[in-house]
Amino acid sequence: MIGDPVRRIVIVGGGTAGWMAAAALAKVIGALPGLTIELVESDEIGTVGVGEATIPQINLFNQLLEIDEAEFVSRTQATYKLGIEFRDWTRLGHRYIHPFGFYGVDMGGIEFHHHWLKGRSLGDDSELDDYSLAAVAARQGRFSHPRPDQPKSPLARIAYAFQFDAALYARFLRSRAEAGGVRRTEGRVVDAEQDGESGFVRALHLADDRRVEGDLFIDCSGFRALLIGQTLGVGFEDWSRWLPCDRALAVACESGEDRRPLTRSTARPAGWQWRIPLQHRTGNGYVYSSAHVSDDAAAATLLGSLDGAALGDPRALRFRAGHRREAWNRNVVALGLAGGFLEPLESTSIHLVQTGIARLLTLFPTLAFDPAEIARYNALTVQEYVDIRDFLVLHYKATERDDSEFWNYCRTLEPPPALAEKLAMFRSNGRVFREQHELFTETSWLSVMVGQGIAAGGYHPAADLLADDETLARLGHIRGVVEHTASLLPTQQQWIRQLGAGI
Ligand code: FAD
Repeated sequence: MIGDPVRRIVIVGGGTAGWMAAAALAKVIGALPGLTIELVESDEIGTVGVGEATIPQINLFNQLLEIDEAEFVSRTQATYKLGIEFRDWTRLGHRYIHPFGFYGVDMGGIEFHHHWLKGRSLGDDSELDDYSLAAVAARQGRFSHPRPDQPKSPLARIAYAFQFDAALYARFLRSRAEAGGVRRTEGRVVDAEQDGESGFVRALHLADDRRVEGDLFIDCSGFRALLIGQTLGVGFEDWSRWLPCDRALAVACESGEDRRPLTRSTARPAGWQWRIPLQHRTGNGYVYSSAHVSDDAAAATLLGSLDGAALGDPRALRFRAGHRREAWNRNVVALGLAGGFLEPLESTSIHLVQTGIARLLTLFPTLAFDPAEIARYNALTVQEYVDIRDFLVLHYKATERDDSEFWNYCRTLEPPPALAEKLAMFRSNGRVFREQHELFTETSWLSVMVGQGIAAGGYHPAADLLADDETLARLGHIRGVVEHTASLLPTQQQWIRQLGAGI
């Protein structure tokens, strides 16, 4: 190794971000000689306590930590998730599913959806959802792991994620991190000591006068952004013109009837409402624009549409869409809410923590803190935020709703340039692209564009290499296989019981 090694890692904050970072760093580099990992958190301040829906990439994180799925599901009261059901986003009364995974099968070397678009032009009225095993299984309340041993079945590649209790998840990761040697210090950080010349953070000062020294600081202090914002003054790139929602009310309620493996997102007059069914309760929240609805009206909307009795009063949260201009500055790396916020419409925040940790591990510094590596980290982080932002904005922009000021604003907003290009390409000939390492796949872009009523002007000419009746017959066959495969799966409750993990 070239350069003096970082010996003391200090993580500020013990929310989801802090404990994810602690558990992963302990697992991957914790055994390096002389390395210490210390996490400072304040019981008095607490965590945001929301953040319950994930995307399939969380499985990679669990694999890295060698987490046993049954233990994980049981300890976090988790349920499975095969996608998100969007209600009332396109127009009132309309619904569609953004499924994980893929649509249809490979037919003649072009993407499946071109055959589906051709079928539509021939009068076939099937929905794109009908060609996704994840969507059909979710509609039926069924679940299974993928079965790679059945390569011809759509089950071979089904993808899934989890929905869990955020507080239990942080506790679960804490136990693993502490078992891996992470030291937890309870206390409130009141100040940070910086090197006079370089501005590097040298130590934290706690309210009871303790001092915590470090070489590398990971700021997981949530919206407070203690080190990256308050100490180092790194600015915030504000995206509220594209994503105007700036508040949320969150409340759990008793479990309802609908236990399908889905997160539900219902568009409301000034934002949208999430519904996340867990084993022991259902998580709910209304994400809204304070410029378009009062807090009282938002609370009435939320409380008036729960599955069962509310378990406490709604918690109020305030935020701004955007990100820190540099997630890594000097010897401080910001993860989680300290680094930025994109509303949980596609459940991406925990994933952003995960990729931030992965990048930090890839570019793990020496005490020299190479500026080129830091610049690389920051460029990749910003691109990831931009890509997700554009996908979120699509949901708001592609709507027919004109029943409130909020929806009129969203429908008519000027989209970011890359999104405008994506929309134009789909509108012309049904082309869908995934840029470079972009998180969301063609399936995701397609599901939301089609689901929210963007009409493709054409389809790939190669789809016409199949005779019209052959296209329709194959589409019908695929739908039948998907429907039949789904019908053979256990319900999600049966699956979790078989796993010995609850319900
Ligand atoms: P926090 O949970 O706020 O933790 C901050 C930590 O810093 C706490 O331990 C606190 O005690 C500590 N701290 C702060 N100041 C000090 C101090 N002075 N001294 C010592 N300690 C201090 N993400 C998803 O992936 N899926 C979702 O469905 C989802 N839903 C969300 C819904 C809403 C409304 C919001 C706001 C967020 C949602 N998220 C979701 C995001 C997710 O909640 C966060 O990404 C995740 O919880 C990480 O939070 P955090 O650890 O950065 O911050």
